[in-house]
Amino acid sequence: MLRLFIALDLPEDHRHQLYTLRNPSWKARWATPNQFHLTLRFLGPVEEARLPELIQTLARIEAPAFELTPRGLIALPSPARPRVLAAAVDPIPELHTLQAEIERHVVDLGFTPEARPFRPHITLARLKQVPATAVRAFLQRHRNFSLAPFPVQAFYLYESHLHPDGARYEILHRFPLQR
Ligand code: ATP
Ligand code: MG
Repeated sequence: MLRLFIALDLPEDHRHQLYTLRNPSWKARWATPNQFHLTLRFLGPVEEARLPELIQTLARIEAPAFELTPRGLIALPSPARPRVLAAAVDPIPELHTLQAEIERHVVDLGFTPEARPFRPHITLARLKQVPATAVRAFLQRHRNFSLAPFPVQAFYLYESHLHPDGARYEILHRFPLQR
């Protein structure tokens, strides 16, 4: 079985800028620059034999390229119960259209529909034991956080390799968007 998900990649410069937010004193696992991504659809374990039809189906998606602007930091599922610290992005229609198209195509293939609403985010850290007050102070300090808009010209099929000290994500396929 392959552990798969579909996501957007970020330019190297943006990944390094996100990494500078790191607070090494927290009991948390911070993402490293090569781990940053924005998940559009988590597929979970998939039989390797299904990979060709999955790639064929995703390749049929026709959606326009767009620009994405990271803006705002958030705590998930909520600031009161912070498990994940993430950067949000401006909610532009093209991003949600792409996510909906991907969802439609994978459900057509037989994947279980995603029950949770799409909350686009770039995970910065998995919080192990960070008090909600410390997280709130961090969010307050970075309340004006934003990065320059970047072009999104493709989405990617990733394989996730889970390791005790953090996952490694491998790009299996690139799906270009229309320009
Ligand atoms: P770890 O599980 O070791 O903390 P990870 O969550 O980054 O690492 P995966 O669990 O393989 O690695 O997840 C890959 C991507 O899919 C991540 O962006 C993760 O947030 C997202 N993801 C994982 N599980 C789900 C899920 N059930 N629903 C939606 N997205 C998910
Ligand atoms: Mg996980």
